[in-house]
Amino acid sequence: MTDNATASDAPQRLAQVQAEIDKACKIARRKPEDVTLIAISKTHPADEIVPLLEAGQRVYGENRVQETQEKWPALQERYSDTKLHLVGQLQSNKAEDAAQLFDCIHSLDRPSLVKALGKAFDKTGRQVPCFVQVDIGEEEQKGGCAIRDLPALLEQARGADIPVCGLMCVPPFGIEAAPYFALLAKIADDHGLDGRSMGMSGDYPTAIMLGATHIRVGTALFGARD
Ligand SMILES: *Cc1c(COP(=O)(O)O)cnc(C)c1O
Repeated sequence: MTDNATASDAPQRLAQVQAEIDKACKIARRKPEDVTLIAISKTHPADEIVPLLEAGQRVYGENRVQETQEKWPALQERYSDTKLHLVGQLQSNKAEDAAQLFDCIHSLDRPSLVKALGKAFDKTGRQVPCFVQVDIGEEEQKGGCAIRDLPALLEQARGADIPVCGLMCVPPFGIEAAPYFALLAKIADDHGLDGRSMGMSGDYPTAIMLGATHIRVGTALFGARD
């Protein structure tokens, strides 16, 4: 498949994903407008993103500060109502850049980052809503706050005036994700948090049925990454 063929497929893929979202919402008796589709555009160049922008998709996710700085300012000049979400691990020394670039951060996961973001928000005057990433499958290499450390981290975030909008997870690869989604939803409930960032290309309908408010879909929209 040539690059052009991939790009021109994008609007059709978007329509398919939207149809799947509608279907899952219907089964779960939820409103589609309560589920935000984040198109994960990491590794895809601007010319692959433009067809989705043209098709009306306005919320995108990236996992690297530098790649976002290189790709998005020019696109946002043309499509000014675009929102950018950070879905990758964030180094504390990039907190200020992240505060400037992103409208939402999904990877708040440790005390040092709470401190760095608190400072960055003060300095930039931007209060970016954050999801706390939870290490739902107890896989340390993935990042995310251990479930037992979550209450302390949430308290610290409140103390630093960080607007925490919910919890995020990436369940273990290759096994059924539903139990992890259900667990994340339960923990979010317990802490009175409304946002649940969960579900990717392979499992977003399940995530919606279990209460996802934000789904992060890359491959199903853009095709495989290199
Ligand atoms: C890359 C990525 C996604 C998108 O994954 P797909 O399987 O391509 O839909 C979602 N969430 C996070 C955190 C990611 O890094």
